[in-house]
Amino acid sequence: MRCPTCGTAWREQPECPRCGSDLAPLMRLSAEAWRHRIAAADSLAGERWSEALHHAREANRLQRTETGDGLLLLALLLAG
Ligand SMILES: [Zn+2]
Repeated sequence: MRCPTCGTAWREQPECPRCGSDLAPLMRLSAEAWRHRIAAADSLAGERWSEALHHAREANRLQRTETGDGLLLLALLLAG
């Protein structure tokens, strides 16, 4: 993840180490997206395709990641 203000890469800190921007809201979004990716993977494992699609879409809406893209593609294919 990168700070939206100055573009510095950051990890697990609620404040940007470079410009001091409050990154807590971003961290919450990131955690929420992570939960949706886990739920999407669980749904795929349980062959609940439309549920997987819902979670994969939500995850990528909150935070787009390569893993999220992969889950979304898989869910789209399986949900037909
Ligand atoms: Zn910053």
